[in-house]
Amino acid sequence: MKLTRRDFLKLCGGTAAGTALLGVLGPESFLEAAPIDIPLRKKIGEKTTICPYCGVGCGAIMAVENGKITNIEGDPDHPINKGSLCPKGEALYELANSERRLKKVLYRSPGATSWEEKPWDWAIEQIARRIKDTRDSNWISKDKGGRVVNRLEAIASVGSVFTNSEEAYLMTKLQRALGLVYIENAARICVSSAVAANTESFGRGPMSNSWIDLKNSDCIMAIGSNAAATFPNAFKWIIKAKEKGAKLIHVDPRFTRTSAKADIYARLRTGTDVAFVGGMINYVLDDMEQRPENYNTEYVREYTNASFLINPDFEFEDGIFSGYDSSTRSYDKSSWQYQLDGNSKPKVDKSLQDPHCVFQLLKKHFSRYDVDTVCKITGTPEEDYLEACRTFAVTGAVGKAGAIVLSSGACQHTQGTQNVRAYGILQLLLGNMGISGGGINGIAGAVNGLGCSVQGRLFHWLPGTLSSPTADQQTLEEYVKANGHEAHIVSLLKSWYGDNATAANDYGFNWLPKGSGNYSFVPLFAAIHSGTIKGLICWGMNPAVSGPNSSYIREALSKLDWMIVIDLWETESAAFWRRPGVDSASIDTEVFFLPAASSLEKEGSVSNSSRWVQWRYKGIEPPGEAKDDLWITNRLMLKLKQLYETEGGPNADVISDLTWEYGDPPDVHRVAKEVNGYDLETGQLVPDLTKLKADGTTTSGNWIFCGSYTEEGNMTALRDPSPGPFNIGLFPKWAWAWPLNRRIWYNRASVDLEGKPWDVNRPVIKWDPLTEEWIGDAPDGGWPPASISGKYPFIMKPQGRAHLFGPGRLDGPLPEHYEPWESPVMNPMTSQQSDPVLKLWNWDKRGTPDKYPIVATTFRLVTHLHTGSFTRNLPWLVELMPEMFIEISEELANESGIVNGGRVIVESARGEIQGVAMVTKRLRPFSINGQKKVHQIAIPWNWGYMGLSKGDSGNLLTSCVADANTGIPELRAFLCNIKRV
Ligand code: SF4
Repeated sequence: MKLTRRDFLKLCGGTAAGTALLGVLGPESFLEAAPIDIPLRKKIGEKTTICPYCGVGCGAIMAVENGKITNIEGDPDHPINKGSLCPKGEALYELANSERRLKKVLYRSPGATSWEEKPWDWAIEQIARRIKDTRDSNWISKDKGGRVVNRLEAIASVGSVFTNSEEAYLMTKLQRALGLVYIENAARICVSSAVAANTESFGRGPMSNSWIDLKNSDCIMAIGSNAAATFPNAFKWIIKAKEKGAKLIHVDPRFTRTSAKADIYARLRTGTDVAFVGGMINYVLDDMEQRPENYNTEYVREYTNASFLINPDFEFEDGIFSGYDSSTRSYDKSSWQYQLDGNSKPKVDKSLQDPHCVFQLLKKHFSRYDVDTVCKITGTPEEDYLEACRTFAVTGAVGKAGAIVLSSGACQHTQGTQNVRAYGILQLLLGNMGISGGGINGIAGAVNGLGCSVQGRLFHWLPGTLSSPTADQQTLEEYVKANGHEAHIVSLLKSWYGDNATAANDYGFNWLPKGSGNYSFVPLFAAIHSGTIKGLICWGMNPAVSGPNSSYIREALSKLDWMIVIDLWETESAAFWRRPGVDSASIDTEVFFLPAASSLEKEGSVSNSSRWVQWRYKGIEPPGEAKDDLWITNRLMLKLKQLYETEGGPNADVISDLTWEYGDPPDVHRVAKEVNGYDLETGQLVPDLTKLKADGTTTSGNWIFCGSYTEEGNMTALRDPSPGPFNIGLFPKWAWAWPLNRRIWYNRASVDLEGKPWDVNRPVIKWDPLTEEWIGDAPDGGWPPASISGKYPFIMKPQGRAHLFGPGRLDGPLPEHYEPWESPVMNPMTSQQSDPVLKLWNWDKRGTPDKYPIVATTFRLVTHLHTGSFTRNLPWLVELMPEMFIEISEELANESGIVNGGRVIVESARGEIQGVAMVTKRLRPFSINGQKKVHQIAIPWNWGYMGLSKGDSGNLLTSCVADANTGIPELRAFLCNIKRV
């Protein structure tokens, strides 16, 4: 079905109906809407913005009349969405005009059963006092070994992924100055494992290519992602590729809207991705041996560590890699390292025949993943599986491009990192990294999940993904020895401490808090339970719904002395003390609710999944007394500075000497310029990161953003719609991409050793031998081609080679199939049932298949974002998806006497929920090991006890058990039972 935009509007007769129609038509139809015949440039105030929801980063236009937003529609000039918005974006008008927004500061005293309204001055005063008192009486200046740590464990911060990057940067600056180490955001529990995997494989964590570049693919494999529903405007580019003949493979436990558009739908049991992709790797390695002409073997030999020799002591035996210590449940990784020559360089065998070379180890390891074994594990029909292998393997030929698209469905597993590692290995064998139409494209579920994270909203990162200092780094020299990045850390310290940061005092390095452990999301809530953490700042995050084993999270909140919630809505976390079934009077936590401005009511930048940093403008004033996060952070720090200057306290100088000159109200452009950085000798903004110095003469709050705001202006506000070099859709003058405005990462792998593109029809860069310059995208490493410079394309890895064999992860150098922590199936591969180093927490109850025989997974909806705190407060979206439901197969319904539309109870070892049964053909039982029938159900996790539509959260059932590398919980695979109410 094809509709013009005008046809579409006529058919819809209104936006609410329109969004309803979108759900029926599916994404392709509305994305084809052509906006050109609508006069968008009206004589009213128009401001551009970026949709506040997901990481696609669609552009929208706000129509403003008399201080009110009267309309919001897709920005027709925006290269990603070209005027279209998905149902959430279509409902932005309601966000701008919602009566359900909280507009006043609220306070809940200990034991109270209701909120009181309070003025801002009172709240800032009270909150600063709570922070200071808690900090001063719990300050840790030295650890037990006498090492300086200067940290505070008694206050934690969670959030955010929805604020602007400038706000996130300022929050980090404030919180690190206070000494906080428990700083986390939703990225930890959403996609952190993809970051760990991609960093191991290629050197960097986020998406390698861009949404638009998907149109250049010959084959896209979406795995662990229902992109058509959760990221519709990204999916548009997959449809564009399909229109040109590309194939779409969808690998997922559930038949979804993405499956409906796929050429091949391969279903798999949740939590078996490593087996599925391990078999594809085996298929490719076999095929490469028989038909090398169908593959880019030069790419594999030259650009990966395939030829590197591994320590002869490396072994893999019955599911365990060498170096395992069962008493600590951890690996000693020394036997996973390279053999070195006399110059401490890795030994190589370019023939790839040495039994210790990576290529041979890879073959040996994955030869166990034959089609029969894989399908027994995954439950995938063999013909579908082979078709998927054959189709994706075709992209291994020179001149072909295959992309992998993933999101949290791939990541939220105890095997999350190794799932994505497997995708990376496959893409490297196929030569699909660095080329147009290729890559690993992980989708961030929130508009600025990426931007906020790289501004240091995760415990292990300072801004710019610089590692947070640890207690064993007592000097700047020791920090730099462990982490490198001397110019970047010095420039950060100069930004934060100005003239007080000098070479003589290590630029104030020891003022940064130093950690001694794991401060990630689950340990953070454990530390609240144990009483270590007394105060929590909840910054636009709703852990009472998004956290694993949500009952555990909700109970933790009751143990806090105080809690600050900064949000637009009264979320489940804000209202935890009056949730159903609890006696409010028995909860002593003091709660401050600070009403925040929405993205439509403030200015600043957000970074989409493709790393495009896009500036959003302020449309209107915030409603009532709501304030933007920059204002809140600024006021709080000004008050804290005043308190410490007058009263003193431990490490008071760190707070009083912190640079903080943004005005009041703060000027976001001053913050953006600080993030970029200055040359202190000229007073000018630094033009790009290559100009940052380690001698204290430059500042930069975030080195990877250096170049985003220069003397030429705010690069993130650029809106030149020209597609750029080679017409592949780089759009280099639309917004700005970090770092260095590079649009496709690892792009020096898109050319051969001489700098000639592998794919002459879709080049990304090419070397001009006459000018001795690269043409095209910003090259990933400005050196000449490898044959001249000896510099290889994966510049963040020590030898410039990507890692087929990854010696840096905690759970093994190669992906290996283990069953999810809760599984009804004995691992058919080895006697090692689940990942031997997964993170276990002592409060987690483990469900067993005798009591909980059904596999469950969770998922998201197009209409509701994450915890639903936004979308379950907007009537249009609630009308579209009004009630919590549970998808079950017809077979399971028949066996259990469940009827479509009836109510059911789902129970796991952690708790139980109720919902409406949706009996559907989208799910079917799996045949495992060729015989055992395994039922699987699927549960959306977008509900809670607040908002217009209330319902049980799927996360009441999930466990905290987590991936070894990142602590991401296994939210997508667990055991349950189901019965009718
Ligand atoms: Fe675009 Fe995502 Fe917003 Fe939908 S939710 S309009 S796909 S940015």
